Amino acid sequence: MKLSDISIKNIPGIGDKKFSVFAGELDIRTVEDLLFFRPRRYIDRSALLKIKDIRPSQNEISVIGEITGITSIKTPRNILKIEISDGTGILEGIFFGGIKYFAKIFESGDTVIFSGKPELNYGRIKIVHPEFDFIYDKNDAVNTARIVPVYPLTETLRNNFINSRFLRKIMKYAADNFIKYADCRIPDKLIVKYNLIEYKKALFYTHFPENEQQIESSRKRLAFNELFYYVFFINISKELNRKKVFKAQIQFNEEKFNAVQENLPFKLISDQENALQEIKKDILSPDPMNRLLQGDVGSGKTVVAVLAIAIHVLGGGQAAFMAPTEVLARQHFYFCEKYLGPFFKVDYLSGSNTASERENIYLNLENGTTGLIIGTHALFQENVKFKNLKFIVIDEQHRFGVEQRLRLYEKGRTPDLLVMTATPIPRSLALTVFGDLDVSVIREKPAGRQPVKTLLFSENRMKGVYNSINKYLSTGRQCYYVLPLIEESEKSDLKSAKEMYNKLTGMFKEHRVAILHGKMNSEEKISIMNEFKLNEIQILVSTTVIEVGIDVPNANIIVVHHAERFGLSQLHQLRGRVGRGEHESFCVLIYPESCDPETVERLSFLENCSDGFLISEKDLQTRGSGQLTGLIQHGFKSEFDFLNPVDDTEMIINARNDISAIISTMNIDVESDNIKRIISEKNILKNSGEKIYSILS
Ligand code: ADP
Ligand code: MG
Repeated sequence: MKLSDISIKNIPGIGDKKFSVFAGELDIRTVEDLLFFRPRRYIDRSALLKIKDIRPSQNEISVIGEITGITSIKTPRNILKIEISDGTGILEGIFFGGIKYFAKIFESGDTVIFSGKPELNYGRIKIVHPEFDFIYDKNDAVNTARIVPVYPLTETLRNNFINSRFLRKIMKYAADNFIKYADCRIPDKLIVKYNLIEYKKALFYTHFPENEQQIESSRKRLAFNELFYYVFFINISKELNRKKVFKAQIQFNEEKFNAVQENLPFKLISDQENALQEIKKDILSPDPMNRLLQGDVGSGKTVVAVLAIAIHVLGGGQAAFMAPTEVLARQHFYFCEKYLGPFFKVDYLSGSNTASERENIYLNLENGTTGLIIGTHALFQENVKFKNLKFIVIDEQHRFGVEQRLRLYEKGRTPDLLVMTATPIPRSLALTVFGDLDVSVIREKPAGRQPVKTLLFSENRMKGVYNSINKYLSTGRQCYYVLPLIEESEKSDLKSAKEMYNKLTGMFKEHRVAILHGKMNSEEKISIMNEFKLNEIQILVSTTVIEVGIDVPNANIIVVHHAERFGLSQLHQLRGRVGRGEHESFCVLIYPESCDPETVERLSFLENCSDGFLISEKDLQTRGSGQLTGLIQHGFKSEFDFLNPVDDTEMIINARNDISAIISTMNIDVESDNIKRIISEKNILKNSGEKIYSILS
């Protein structure tokens, strides 16, 4: 018998009704699912005291005693008072509401354990709404007198009488009766190497730990299980993709490619060259490319992508270059049109094309006239058809998960894929979020760049900041001014972009100030960006729409108000808007005077650090707001209940190699029907790795 074959209906108290609530709300159907339901937290009620030793200053305490009195008091609210005695004193358990129920279940003479926070009541110790267990043998207690689990509950669960108390009861039954069937096939040598506790124990301690250490060691054990099967699955699906897809051989047109490269305004730096070589190798190999190009802001990823596009299109294919915003897509279009346009047709699909323009764009894609199309997500709408799409480049995209990529293959498309991100992702996260991608990294920046000086000021020092801005504007430079909100809002004291725009307009009369925000339409945004690029606008006030990709080398100051609202990685990206030319550049971070010292401390990390990878790791450690947290919440949490990218970094990195080594000895036929069937199931990641592994091992 296997845990995953035992229905939770085998547990007393779970009938059809509760079963369907468990299945619908929590995706729990089997005892295995149930035991993997992770407590949200634990309460330590293990302090079992004599009544005479209890002090109202104490926190959670537990008391074992015999019921000596039951009194219901009518006014002003219905109250039920249960007195218990342990021979050293008397303690009162007070219940409000539901008292009929409680009056029925307690009887004089019963032995009970009460737990809760003690209070003093006219010289007597009382606990309001004590947690309780009826007891013959204290080892049966699941709600009191020990560390007890508290489960995450939803409204629907509560409405169906599924609460922590009920869960503890069924967990105990499941643990006592079924854990013996638990079976884990993860190789022993890994269990030993990572110093993991036995699987059965881990399942038990998760719900019924005796101490903190058991909580952590069981978490780690179950985290390793998740990691193992995840890495296993990633490897299998990678292998499958390799086999499933046949790429037509691409001819490398060296002569024309060299012409493109020579036409560029600069020479590649060595990291760019290395990344390009890795990409080129992928393109020319028969396996489809799945590559992530990571590089700090301003490291020059675009040109690498552009050259990769050239290889493909000069070789006869079509390419699609997708950016997350119109402004960025437009910027890429200008660059590509200028440097690739002489060699093949480059087109741009935007939300503001007229119907007839659009017709034309579609037509040229479908008949193969257009070599490269640039745009936003709109590029992947159904009515956009390609004659021969061979290459997709996705810029600044963080949430392009394993599953989406697998779906791309299922659609029968077989283009090479290059994903670019300027949020350097810590290695542990990269494995879990982009686990099936090969990674190229650009670490150094193009020569001649001056590091951006980062300064941290509280709001009361703004005067000096305005003076500096003035000074640089008068020497011909430009300035970005970033705020977190657009409109003034009564509820918040955030300086709004509009308010600041008005203020700066009044203050810098000799310069042109403009505002850019997310609620403008893309035409307006693009025309303002253009004017800024041409230095017709000197101060650009904006919300974070300028966050990604914008390139205006003449701008040398960026001021960020309410820096405390941003994650470090996000600020680092904003900072990357300046320092792109030969001018000395500044990033000024402003925080309110009321800002707490820890936050200022967190921000000050940026003053001395310009390495995006370190910054993102710091973000992860401090769980700073921003993209990484978003990544964790969206990409990560859904896939793992126990694994934690911060605490488990080392384990993640080491285990990946060990697990891959084991897989390579297994001689797996990824094209077997069993594996194909599992991979094509609806819920792709959850449990897929485990299922495949159990078939094979
Ligand atoms: P990101 O990696 O943030 O997308 P970009 O591709 O926008 O960076 O490049 C930033 C700036 O650096 C652009 O102005 C680009 O033209 C310039 N650049 C890129 N590569 C080089 C290079 N090898 N030498 C000089 N300038 C470069
Ligand atoms: Mg970019």
